Amino acid sequence: MQIAETRAALAQITQKWSEEKLDWAFVPTMGALHNGHLTLVREALRHFPRVVVSVFVNPTQFDRADDLERYPRQPVKDAEMLREVGAHVLFLPSVEVMYPEGTDKDRVPDLNGLDNRYEGAARPGHFDGVVQIVRRLVQAVYPKAMFMGQKDAQQVAILKRAAAQEFWPLEIHAVPTVRESSGLAMSSRNGQLSKEAFAKAATISKVLAKAEQDWIKGERPRSIEKEATETLIKAGLRPEYFDFINAVTFEQIPDFPIAEQPVKQVLIVVVAWLEGVRLIDNWKLY
Ligand code: AMP
Repeated sequence: MQIAETRAALAQITQKWSEEKLDWAFVPTMGALHNGHLTLVREALRHFPRVVVSVFVNPTQFDRADDLERYPRQPVKDAEMLREVGAHVLFLPSVEVMYPEGTDKDRVPDLNGLDNRYEGAARPGHFDGVVQIVRRLVQAVYPKAMFMGQKDAQQVAILKRAAAQEFWPLEIHAVPTVRESSGLAMSSRNGQLSKEAFAKAATISKVLAKAEQDWIKGERPRSIEKEATETLIKAGLRPEYFDFINAVTFEQIPDFPIAEQPVKQVLIVVVAWLEGVRLIDNWKLY
């Protein structure tokens, strides 16, 4: 595996692939890698002969300075894991490489309100920063496809829209969420939890699975949401939202049971806090 720290070093490698008629896929990450990230890399390797992974903690997508500071960083271990899984290039740029003119926000395409709801509402400016960095990374890597996690469902929806708006010439693949044996969605932030909280955090996926069962039984979304929120609070978590939403528009669905529900692509989205850590998950219902 080669490590490129500049756009020029990366371009040298990809130019050679281009001459050899080899396509490459791209997996953007913020590092502190776990099996969820590695699954994206494995998926990319299954479809493409070459894979570039970036590790870059993007300052413009953090709405809280303490969160940016606290974000785990382990580039040496990340490189080892990526080498082992068979990635071809690790793109490891500095802030200066990605933002030579400073970290002011770039112009953002029209995201049709997708960026005002849920994660967008909870973290002002977050998706502007995400679109900004992915646009710059895509321009540096120039991949045929990008692999992302369904765990960040709104991020996938927004990047698909941005890609369509700006004619980014690439496919976007969403990979199902990789979970711990307890059901907890793997996350770089899970390492900030105590052992006890790590066990408690599994309540989130249990509540999601129960909500799906209740939905299938014909219960109404508002009543399921209320019960789920209460269960999370009882378990010692602090829910920020737990909603049944339209998977396309990210608006809450109307309060009709499954048989009368006009929205067909439904997602349950949840954020809950534990020990000051913000845990995010979602569940596809179609
Ligand atoms: P991050 O480093 O958190 O920005 O994540 C980089 C990519 O990995 C994003 O596309 C995430 O959605 C994806 N990802 C993170 N956790 C998981 C997981 N548990 N399962 C699948 N993909 C994940």
